[in-house]
Amino acid sequence: MNRIDTLLKPLVDEERFSLFESIARFAEDEIAPNLLGWERSKSLVPDGVISKMGDMGLFGLPIPDEYGGQDGQMIDLILAGLSLSYWSPSVAITPGAAVSLGINPLLRFGTDQQKKDHLPDLAAGRRMFAFGLSEPGRGSDAANPQVGAEKVEGGYVLRGEKCWTTNAAWASHIVVHAMTDPSGRNGHRSTCFIVPRDREGVAYQEMEGKTVWPLSSTGSVAFDSVKVSEDEILGDIHGGFRVMVTTLNGGRLFVAAVALGSLAFALDKTRGYVQEREQFGGAIGRFQRVQDVVLEMDLALERNLSWLIQLVHAYDKGTMDREQAAKVKIDCSRVASTLVQDAMEICGGVACLDEFGLARHAADLFVTRVGEGSNRALMSQISRSLLPDIADELQ
Ligand SMILES: Cc1cc2nc3c(=O)[nH]c(=O)nc-3n(C[C@H](O)[C@H](O)[C@H](O)COP(=O)(O)OP(=O)(O)OC[C@H]3O[C@@H](n4cnc5c(N)ncnc54)[C@H](O)[C@@H]3O)c2cc1C
Repeated sequence: MNRIDTLLKPLVDEERFSLFESIARFAEDEIAPNLLGWERSKSLVPDGVISKMGDMGLFGLPIPDEYGGQDGQMIDLILAGLSLSYWSPSVAITPGAAVSLGINPLLRFGTDQQKKDHLPDLAAGRRMFAFGLSEPGRGSDAANPQVGAEKVEGGYVLRGEKCWTTNAAWASHIVVHAMTDPSGRNGHRSTCFIVPRDREGVAYQEMEGKTVWPLSSTGSVAFDSVKVSEDEILGDIHGGFRVMVTTLNGGRLFVAAVALGSLAFALDKTRGYVQEREQFGGAIGRFQRVQDVVLEMDLALERNLSWLIQLVHAYDKGTMDREQAAKVKIDCSRVASTLVQDAMEICGGVACLDEFGLARHAADLFVTRVGEGSNRALMSQISRSLLPDIADELQ
């Protein structure tokens, strides 16, 4: 039995554990055997896989059944993230970003009409929303976007560029964070708009040269005088930054799950290999220095998995605070990155071959450290609450 199955079982109810198992089976049967081929041919997640994930209901997990969704919660999405990222973080992030960054802000901030217009198609995987926060000149410092929304008769006109937009290739709409009131209070200057990707003036292109999440689409999207109506505003006017940061709380939990999926794979792979590989007359797993790494991975997986699941339950009850999501994302991504590197080292040269699997996870873990708020920028925010007397002086 995989270690993650053993460790997860006591943390969730039976129905949830079966959901985890069924997605894990899908990943093992339909994703794992094809991964290398897709990666070596530089393909994105094939359309057939996206539609199968749609048929399984993965895109509609938190959507109420009145809109055709699964009526689930964040915990269901997290279980999907753990099971898919065990094999491929870049496959996992496809439904992960579509739901945590695309559907969740609509569920939370959308009007009744916006929900009626979009949720049934989003639940079925016929539409996908992508999250347009980052820009070439606005990464960690995202509160004041350079994409501008100029007020005109009957709506707004958007100009500027978003980048690093996950799922851009498949997105029907981009939720665009744009400046609407440059002279407003910090954090109250921007507004979110739901913009169809095929609207006149919107130009998407896939970002080139990316060495992580190879199967995931990452686009840059330019807006050349794109007209949007007031009905396409998501949330409050000048309340766009709140929409974005609230959404990132859920996104960070998902990223933490993706990191733990990678750690879980590395643990099983390494346990298997060090018991088979022989040097100096026996299995390399008999060396205590090798055992230490296996043990460290198991401890980290157990500790972080139970922390994450506990926080996700709090998120679903509405009692998790923002800092906790940042902390668990920071810790899971850091610990998993370090330990997967250690795992590669104790497996030796074979670990750098793509077919061995560890190198994929080591590369993809980079995104968990930088994406959805770079760890170090988040650490700066957390330090402010730890050192309140000098918070204004902290850099
Ligand atoms: C594969 C991938 C997919 C992504 N998907 C999306 C998406 O779907 N939508 C979206 O909007 N964005 C997306 N992003 C963008 C991601 O959120 C940003 O990369 C992240 O916010 C950091 O911004 P930056 O890369 O511009 O780094 P910068 O902001 O330039 O920061 C660089 C580094 O400076 C340091 N730093 C910055 N600020 C501070 C601070 N305050 N304190 C301490 N150190 C600091 C950190 O070490 C940080 O890593 C994606 C990124 C990647 C790599």
